[in-house]
Amino acid sequence: MINYHAHDDASSDAAGSLLEHARAAAAAGLDELCLTNHVEILRPDGEWTVDADEAIDRLGREIEAAVATREVVPGLTLRVGAELEYRPEWVQDLERIAASLPLDYLLGSVHVVDGHNISGGADVDAYFRDRSLERAYGRYFEIVAEMVAWGGFDVVAHFDLVKRFGHRTYGPWDPSTLEAPVRKLLGAVADSNLGIEINTSGYGQPPGAPYPDPIIVRWAREAGVACLTVGADSHAPHRVAAGLERGTAVAAAAGWTTLTGFDGRRPRPVELSESPVGDAW
Ligand SMILES: [Zn+2]
Ligand SMILES: [Zn+2]
Repeated sequence: MINYHAHDDASSDAAGSLLEHARAAAAAGLDELCLTNHVEILRPDGEWTVDADEAIDRLGREIEAAVATREVVPGLTLRVGAELEYRPEWVQDLERIAASLPLDYLLGSVHVVDGHNISGGADVDAYFRDRSLERAYGRYFEIVAEMVAWGGFDVVAHFDLVKRFGHRTYGPWDPSTLEAPVRKLLGAVADSNLGIEINTSGYGQPPGAPYPDPIIVRWAREAGVACLTVGADSHAPHRVAAGLERGTAVAAAAGWTTLTGFDGRRPRPVELSESPVGDAW
């Protein structure tokens, strides 16, 4: 079993050293762990910002730390990637960071839509309050489509993250309400040779379901998306396997027979193993 979305204390929003995360992953029975720390840093005022030199230094230290960690946790395949926040004004910095480091894997994320941090900023409810679900979610997917058109990463993170807090305004989301734009976006993901992840953090958040919804995982396969990873989006060692069994079962139920891992940003098939892990949800 794999976790391809994890943050340690080299991310401004997470706790626990790389070694602690790796030991927790091995103890939970994971085969592979890929760290995906944010390249951006959280400012004291709660806004995220990017400083390319800072990110290159910090992620470079993580790559060095991984060499030592592999020595002491030999049963675990440990990889180092990063999570990039797509904003048009940051693209040059993101590309410089990606080109400067031998990272295994890059997630592309949208957390901010039209100036609103839709993953939990102070103004998160304001984004949904004045919009219909179709407009609020549709606009988010438009920004994801812009990010896919840019394409400077490997896998789209938490594909329908907008439902995390949209759930508070609209309740559970039925993806068929936006089936046409979502299927079109998945077609663009496939055409760009990008992938999606099953992000299991949603099991512990208001939607009580993974990002994306299981039906979207099926639509992705039908659209010809080649790469599917599974990630816990863990921010502490005790969460390193949270929901992975359920997320892996979603992949199998949607007809996927293998998952994808990454080595130096080259995709390779990994076994879709449903063997039990220490699953915290
Ligand atoms: Zn994220
Ligand atoms: Zn993340």
